[in-house]
Amino acid sequence: MAQLSSRVRALMQPHLRELDVYDPNFTPTRINLSANENTYDVPAMTRAAIDAALAATPTNRYPDPMSNDLRDALAAWHGCARENVIVGNGGDELLYNFLLAFGGPGRTLVNCPPTFSEYAFFASLTQTEVADVWREPETYLPDAEGLVAAARTASLVVLTSPNNPTGDVAPLELVRSLCEACPGLVMVDEAYGEFAAPGTSAEPLLAEHDNLVVLHTLSKAFALAGTRCGYVLAAPDVIAALGAVRQIYSVNVLTQAAALTAVTRREDFAPTVATIVSERARLFASLRELGEHVPITVWPSEGNFLLVRTPDATRVRARLRDEYSILVRDFSYAPGLADCLRITVGTPEENDAVLAALSALVSKQAAASAAPSSKEVSHV
Ligand code: PMP
Repeated sequence: MAQLSSRVRALMQPHLRELDVYDPNFTPTRINLSANENTYDVPAMTRAAIDAALAATPTNRYPDPMSNDLRDALAAWHGCARENVIVGNGGDELLYNFLLAFGGPGRTLVNCPPTFSEYAFFASLTQTEVADVWREPETYLPDAEGLVAAARTASLVVLTSPNNPTGDVAPLELVRSLCEACPGLVMVDEAYGEFAAPGTSAEPLLAEHDNLVVLHTLSKAFALAGTRCGYVLAAPDVIAALGAVRQIYSVNVLTQAAALTAVTRREDFAPTVATIVSERARLFASLRELGEHVPITVWPSEGNFLLVRTPDATRVRARLRDEYSILVRDFSYAPGLADCLRITVGTPEENDAVLAALSALVSKQAAASAAPSSKEVSHV
């Protein structure tokens, strides 16, 4: 896509003039492990049920603006009322609406980088100030004291659990402390929550804290990234505010029908989620073992992805793409993530392929380069 011209930059709102068009850096490859999608598609029987629901959905009428049938199904699942749920065009829309409704000039969002870049992006669009409380640079665990101190004067806090791209879950004690400290709202983004150990979700804390907001998506465990459907659980007045700022028809009829079918048949997805979780453990163990021989560091993860550090990661990523047709995400450019790649956990065959390719590439590069580069790698 064309870049922004100086002519249009001058016409844009001053705080938006530095923006560029989002480039996902996507190249078609044999194996795509770059976007934390579910590399398993929707199970065949579930897909047939979705197709039947789509076929029965008229498209000449506008959608139900609030997706009430879907809200009811989500509420029944999560043991809450319709008033505690709002649906959006992906989690992204709900994150944007969160900043739109509750951020803005003079307001501060506490962010915990390295993390999902959309929080800072949506803060910049809405002119919300960002207070970064950086994770510990070796373990990438959050600085609990720093976060709670920053939360005391903040309007909003966002914590990702499991965190993208570092994979750790937010301790519930920390979430509780943040809810107590923050005079505004605390968002826990559980986009990858279905892959995490049972008992790690912040959802039970919703009953105790009416300033807690929990985000979910159907893009990951439910293999519906292309459908664009996410939802938020929160107190009814928070949901009402998110409802007030939303674009009324953002969740189209086909998405509502597909999501309702998937949520109603959510047990169908359990086997692939279980496979991804066990494959994550296998990939992690194999990368750890590889790290004993070649310069590779891998962090434990509760998501459907692993963060890996290896010297010259940008080159490794390019060679994975060009020589093996495997796409992973390069985070080398991101502050705090020097030489880091994020690898989505795929099918056993995809994981075997990325493991073999990485092993070959990193061994070759380690042999070719001078010894000191391996010293820079810390194993945690
Ligand atoms: N939160 C996190 C942490 C994510 O990584 C993503 C997607 N990559 C989202 C939210 C949004 O997902 P979606 O818009 O597809 O629901």
